[in-house]
Amino acid sequence: MRPVADFGDTLLVGTAAVRRDSGQHNILLMGHRDTVFGKGEAARRPFHIAGDRAYGPGIADMKAGLVMNAFVLAAFQKFAPDIPVVAMMTGDEEIGSQASLSHIDEEARYARAVFNAEPARPTGNFVSGRKGGFTYRFEIGGKAAHAGVNFAEGASAIGELAHKITALHALTDVQQGITLNVGRVSGGSSTNTVAAKASGEDGCSLRRWRAARPLDCRYRGDLCPFDRSGHENHVRAPERIPAAGPDAGQCCAFHHLSRSRGSLGFGNIRRVHRRMR
Ligand SMILES: [Zn+2]
Repeated sequence: MRPVADFGDTLLVGTAAVRRDSGQHNILLMGHRDTVFGKGEAARRPFHIAGDRAYGPGIADMKAGLVMNAFVLAAFQKFAPDIPVVAMMTGDEEIGSQASLSHIDEEARYARAVFNAEPARPTGNFVSGRKGGFTYRFEIGGKAAHAGVNFAEGASAIGELAHKITALHALTDVQQGITLNVGRVSGGSSTNTVAAKASGEDGCSLRRWRAARPLDCRYRGDLCPFDRSGHENHVRAPERIPAAGPDAGQCCAFHHLSRSRGSLGFGNIRRVHRRMR
């Protein structure tokens, strides 16, 4: 168990052969046990089984995946304990895995393969990659003044925010899979006061993770210190969700899965790319 301060702890359990001293050795089964629902949802719709189906919040995404991982783990422990399989259950996936990211990074370093038990689509298609992203929060400080009496002495944080939004949105490049969206803003105190404060949040998503660093540099270096007429800008360290895309190992695993499904009489499946936001 790896403690997490504000969300569910990260739980780890593995077969006897799991090692963390010899490079990429283990097979890592990933899963999360948090859901997207608000407090009280489990009390309103408690877990129950009717017929051969289980019901409750998050039953598909992804309690079913955790149950599957538990059975996989138990099967390897019983029939092939020399295969190093470790299962990780996190508690903050639906809000971006920020608290458990270091645990995932660390465990993945000792893994030669990682499988995530997210639910497939109703067609059987499954998610083989996802866009990565950042969430930025920024604050702008201006200078308050009475808008009717001494307007010229003020510096509007909201005016500055408007420039910033336009500039940030201009970083979007749909062809390259990069989108930047200022999705929340607030500021000001009254209509006859030049706004002394404004703030905003934007979500940036990108398909190729190698674009993350240049984008972050442009965001911080070019855009944040507008600093015209006495404005101050503060950008908090972004929350990040790394992108994960298809690679050679994943293609190999996909073809193996496809063949196995075919031999069991299931239809064709496709891979789909998941957007984070
Ligand atoms: Zn999920």
